[in-house]
Amino acid sequence: MHTLKQKIIELHHISKELDPPEILRNNYLNQVNNFTNQFINGIERVKAYSNAKPNTNVFSINNKKKPLREILKIYTEEVVEKGIKPASGGHLGYIPGGGIYTSALADYIVDITNEYTGMYFASPGGVTLENELIDWMKSIFGFPKTAIGNLTSGGSIANLIALTAARDKHKIKSNNITNSVIYVSPQVHHCINKALRIIGLEDVIIRHLELDDNSRILSDDLKSKIENDTSLGLNPFLVIASSGTTDTGAVDPLQEIGKITKSYNLWYHIDAAYGGFFILTKQKKALFNGIELADSLVIDPHKGLFLPYGLGAVLVKDKKAVYHSHHYIANYMQDAIQDSMPVNPADVSPELTKHFRGLRLWLPLQLHGIEPFVACLEEKLLLTIYFRECIKKIGFKLGPEPDLSVSYFWYPLKNGNENIFNEKLMKEIHNDGEVFLSSTIINDKFVIRIAVLSFRTKLHTIDKAITMIDNARKVITARL
Ligand SMILES: *Cc1c(COP(=O)(O)O)cnc(C)c1O
Repeated sequence: MHTLKQKIIELHHISKELDPPEILRNNYLNQVNNFTNQFINGIERVKAYSNAKPNTNVFSINNKKKPLREILKIYTEEVVEKGIKPASGGHLGYIPGGGIYTSALADYIVDITNEYTGMYFASPGGVTLENELIDWMKSIFGFPKTAIGNLTSGGSIANLIALTAARDKHKIKSNNITNSVIYVSPQVHHCINKALRIIGLEDVIIRHLELDDNSRILSDDLKSKIENDTSLGLNPFLVIASSGTTDTGAVDPLQEIGKITKSYNLWYHIDAAYGGFFILTKQKKALFNGIELADSLVIDPHKGLFLPYGLGAVLVKDKKAVYHSHHYIANYMQDAIQDSMPVNPADVSPELTKHFRGLRLWLPLQLHGIEPFVACLEEKLLLTIYFRECIKKIGFKLGPEPDLSVSYFWYPLKNGNENIFNEKLMKEIHNDGEVFLSSTIINDKFVIRIAVLSFRTKLHTIDKAITMIDNARKVITARL
C-alpha cells in the first residue's frame, strides 16, 4: 500500500505539468495574446499567398520540451507564413473563410470548460444553446420548427448527413441502388460525390443537368430527365440544387426545382454552404425564394458568417429519416436517455463526442448582434460589383453578372491561345501572392475567379488586387 501511494505521488509530480498554475497560465496567455495581436495588426501587410514549403523536421514529436516562445516562432515561420492566408482579406480564391476574433474567444472558453454537447443529459445548457442556433437558422430559411438540425465541422459532413437521410427515407438499399437516380448540376460541389461514395451510393445513376448561361440548372431539363427515367422504369429519388455553386456562385432556380421535386415526390436537397447566408441581405433575399421547399439544407457559418474554420450546419425536415442511421441506444448510455428530452446532437450526426462548436457562433451573435454580419455580406456583394467595374476598365472580359460574390474573368487575345495566356497569368498571380485568386474551367475556357467573402476584404483590397492583376498581365504580355 505504501509503495502504491508513493508511486502515485511520484507520477503526480510529473503529470501535474498538464494543469499549469495561474501564474503560468497568465504567462502563456500573455504570450499568445501578443502573438495574435501582432498577427492581426500585420495581416494586411503580408501577402495572401506564399508558395514556399515548410521545413518539415521542425514538427517532429519527441520528449524534448520547448518554451512557448519557440513554439510560437515555429508556428509563425512554418505554418502561418506558408500557403494561403485565410485570415487575410486578400484571400479571394476558392471560397474564402473568415476567422472573426470573438469566435476564437468562445473557442478558448469552450476548450477550458470542455462541455460535453453530444447529449442533452450531459450539457442541457450547451445543447439548448446549440438547438437555439439551429432554430434561428430554421427561421431564416423558412424551415418548420419540427425540422432537426446539427452543427457540423463543415459543409462536407453536413452534406453527408443530409444525403444519408435522403437515402434512408427513400429506402435505397443494395437491391435498388443501380436503378436509382440522382439529379445534380455538373457544378455541384465535389463533397457531394464523396458523400455518395461514403454512404454506399457509388453505383447510383447520376444525371448531370443542363445549365443556362449563368451556370444555373435548367429546370425544364430536370423535368424531362425525370420523366424519361420514370418511363424507363428507373427510380428517381433525389435532386440536389446549389445556392450558390463554388465555381461561379450560381444560385439554381430553387422555387422551380422545388415544385418539380414535390410533384414527383423526390427528396430535395440544397447545398447552400457558400451562398446561404446571403438570404439575409436586402439585395439577394428574393434569389432564395423556394429554399424553404428543401427537405434538407446545408449552410456553412465558417464561410457566410465569417467564422473560423470548423462550423457547418445541416437542417432536415424529416427527423425519422435522420434518426434511421444516426440514432442508437447503447446500454452504457441508459442514464442519458429520457423521452421528453430535446434532440441530442449525437442522434443526428455520425459524431458522439464533439467539440462544443455552438458557442463560437452564439457568443459573437450575442456580442455584436446580427446587423454587422449582414452589413459585411452586403459589403461583399458591392465589392464584387466594384471589382468587375475595375477589371473591365483594364481590358479584361467578364463572365455573366454574378448571382452572389463569385465572378470570373479572362484576358482576351486578338490572336494567340487565350487559355494558355490566362493559365500563365494565373501562375504569375500566384507567384506574386499579394492577393490570392484561383482558376476554373467554364465551357472549356480557362478563367480566373474572384470570390469575395472574407470579412477583411475591403475597398483597398480590391484596388490592390486590380493593380496586381494588371502588373501580372503586363509581365505575361511582355513575354509573348
Ligand atoms: C465549401 C463548400 C462545401 C464543402 O464544405 P466544407 O465546409 O469545406 O466541408 C460544399 N458545398 C459548397 C457549395 C461549398 O462552397
